[in-house]
Amino acid sequence: MALVSYMSRVQFDFGALRLLPEELALLGVKRPLLVTDTGVRAAGLVGRALAALDARPPIFEETPSNPTEAAAEAALALYRAHGCDGVMALGGGSAIDLAKAAALLATHPGSLGDYGVRGGGSARIGEIAAVLAIPTTAGTGAEVGRAATLTLKTGRKIACVSFKLIPKTAICDPELTLSLPPLMTAATGMDALSHGIESYLSTWENPPAAAIALDCVERAGRWIERAVTRGDDREARWQMLMAALEGGLTFQKSLGAVHAASHPLGALGYHHGTLNAILLPPVMRFNAPAVPEKIARLKVALGLPPAEDLPDWIEGLARRIGLPTKLGELGLDAALIPELAEEATHEHLSATNPRPANAGDYRAILEAAYR
Ligand SMILES: [Zn+2]
Repeated sequence: MALVSYMSRVQFDFGALRLLPEELALLGVKRPLLVTDTGVRAAGLVGRALAALDARPPIFEETPSNPTEAAAEAALALYRAHGCDGVMALGGGSAIDLAKAAALLATHPGSLGDYGVRGGGSARIGEIAAVLAIPTTAGTGAEVGRAATLTLKTGRKIACVSFKLIPKTAICDPELTLSLPPLMTAATGMDALSHGIESYLSTWENPPAAAIALDCVERAGRWIERAVTRGDDREARWQMLMAALEGGLTFQKSLGAVHAASHPLGALGYHHGTLNAILLPPVMRFNAPAVPEKIARLKVALGLPPAEDLPDWIEGLARRIGLPTKLGELGLDAALIPELAEEATHEHLSATNPRPANAGDYRAILEAAYR
């Protein structure tokens, strides 16, 4: 059955950050907690957000590069100590996921582990504290996504997935991405491209989401190189932030084997977007026989001739924008591949890959991605 559901309020353009006070007021949030990280502050973006506000909010800036349960609980403690009534996230996917987790814990009993999708806990997620998301990278789409991925104190990675986790409001201001360094622009941009491609190819029916996915692929494919090589190109930054937003909007069509394989690797500390850039070509080679018409349609969206090999083109693109194209280049221990392959089969996103993949298939994909 197709489920089509769009609920996000999005303010999108250069200068949108100045709308922050009125958007908070519309949400009825009077005492927000600001969740961010030290890199965002060092880039001067916290200062800009504060300048847009009338009063200085409490700030949690210890967001780890991969968000953790411990950090979510620390943010919650600050939220409670200041009597907050909503959370503003300023940053990449990590800060936004952490804000979602803190907002979840603010209105739910127990601990984060009770709400993971794998154990059926996501069905227990009700109304969370209001979340307003301000992305500072163009990639994750977390500002409109319904998932929060965190590492529990046990070391296990957990995904909480619920429409209740979608931020009520997103303020997408491309101005905030102008200072994003080339490698981060490349890695996060490839994450956006992977969202468009994977959701388009997923098994779930949702034609509006598929149309958005194709538009995401077209924008990301056309503008990513320019955003990387000319970081001050405002048009390229606008287009990439829009591609990232569209990638997030298509999540309700689910994803596939790229993300199923990249999540266990991400638990080892590698960058999510870099992993997806490496995994896209071998996963697409695996998927191609199952979805030839859709692969042809993706090539049209990217403006590629029919004879072009799409996985080869993606690998070439990743190389041109300075990303590693093999897991071996990241220093991964090849001996871990069988275990990582097994873990990928347990990821909920594996179920919507267009071609069913078992542990042996993931092993072959990871080996192809290795060298
Ligand atoms: Zn992703």
